[in-house]
Amino acid sequence: MSSRPVIALTPHQSPSRLPPNGKHFFIWTIGCQMNEADSAKVAAMLQEVGYQRTENEQDADIVVLNSCVVRQAAEDKVAGKLNSLARLKRQKPEMPLVLTGCMVTRQQEALRARFPHVDLFFDPSDFDKLEAVVPELAELEDDLAALPHYYQPETSAGASSVSAFVPIIYGCNFLCSYCIVPYRRGKERSRPMEEIVREVERMVSGGVREVTLLGQTVNAYGHDLPGQFGLADLLRAVDAVAGVERLRFLTSHPKYMSHEIIDTMAGLRSACEHMNLPVQAGDNEVLRRMRRTYTRDLWQERIAYTRERMEGVTVATDIIVGFPGETDEQFMQTHELLDEVGCDKVHLAMYSPRPGTLSARWEDDVPHEEKHRRHQTLEHLQERICTEQNGRRLGETYEVLVEGKAKGRWSGRTRGNTLVHFDDDRALLGKLVDVRITRTTPWFLIGEGTGTTR
Ligand code: SAH
Ligand code: SF4
Repeated sequence: MSSRPVIALTPHQSPSRLPPNGKHFFIWTIGCQMNEADSAKVAAMLQEVGYQRTENEQDADIVVLNSCVVRQAAEDKVAGKLNSLARLKRQKPEMPLVLTGCMVTRQQEALRARFPHVDLFFDPSDFDKLEAVVPELAELEDDLAALPHYYQPETSAGASSVSAFVPIIYGCNFLCSYCIVPYRRGKERSRPMEEIVREVERMVSGGVREVTLLGQTVNAYGHDLPGQFGLADLLRAVDAVAGVERLRFLTSHPKYMSHEIIDTMAGLRSACEHMNLPVQAGDNEVLRRMRRTYTRDLWQERIAYTRERMEGVTVATDIIVGFPGETDEQFMQTHELLDEVGCDKVHLAMYSPRPGTLSARWEDDVPHEEKHRRHQTLEHLQERICTEQNGRRLGETYEVLVEGKAKGRWSGRTRGNTLVHFDDDRALLGKLVDVRITRTTPWFLIGEGTGTTR
């Protein structure tokens, strides 16, 4: 496979520091954007020492799986993938099989016993560990952590690298009672602002036009660093980088979603009119037992303020249904809240007990069928809301950043993060195109390119 734009970073940097070695790597990723960013980093490290990507695990000289355990279903998929690789590992015993991501704990004995065919388990914050199975990495003299490579996962064929993820804060200081993330990702650690800005500059010189700042609680950025600065300051600094056309950040915690951050977003050229603010539940008693540290009113106030300050802003949120003890009335509070607020996107999850968390000690007393029913109920509600909201977009023109082409149609996203498919004969990959909407569905928009591109 040829080198991807991922490597064509800065004019002064050669594509990879070691020549191609004829070896291939295969990376499989599930979970959140942080995992995608970490996988992109691993890919970049391997490319630096001459490896090339393959989409086919049979051709690989090294296989890396990046895991997620936020819900049982994700964990089951990882276990399934690991088990299915056992055969390949028997055929190619010399091929390192590596597991990273949130399945990897500090105590690895249990994992080793369960998956004896895995050669290396590494904590997602400890990239240097890869040297154990890729000794060439040790030949690179400088700090691997400084590699400017948090590139959009070049997963699907034809996807562009015009859009990139940049982790800015690792870990989480909250302890929501259902959540395993703090146990696997540790306490908050913000990256220095100058390091982030430099990374963004390098990305832009490699063709990136949209930057998404990442963190489990991205708006807690800076709280752990000396000095009095936070996400608002970082947004201003990244916005000032010439060539950053679109700036996004996720995931925010309602408690830290200050008016200062919202005002800053509203005033910046590149900051997109999109707010990702998980609420998780609409009932205050459930929120209290989830240890979310805010009320429904606070979340609603933050959304209302954002809408006041940014015209046309779209809103995404996360919801868990069937939390222990959630009654039907409490569930209906969530229903009512979503109906009232009208989010553009809702990530719905059925509660899944995670061993080691506080709520796992409580009875998982909402039966699976009932969780499923609540999930379906909210899905139907959301379909109705999105039908209405997207329906109002008919005939409007939106700026779309073109990310790929499938079945003869271009696709990309608006500044509000709505997916748009459109017809246009021009070569548009990576371009900003004005698209007039000719048809709407609850989940995406269809349109045609107008004359204007940038
Ligand atoms: N930091 C973010 C969420 C991180 S986890 C926040 O504060 O909201 C991503 C999503 O997974 C959560 O928003 C939640 O909806 C879901 N999730 C986390 N733990 C879960 C569990 N035990 N069961 C079901 N869904 C869960
Ligand atoms: Fe998990 Fe809560 Fe931290 Fe989000 S804020 S990562 S849900 S503990």
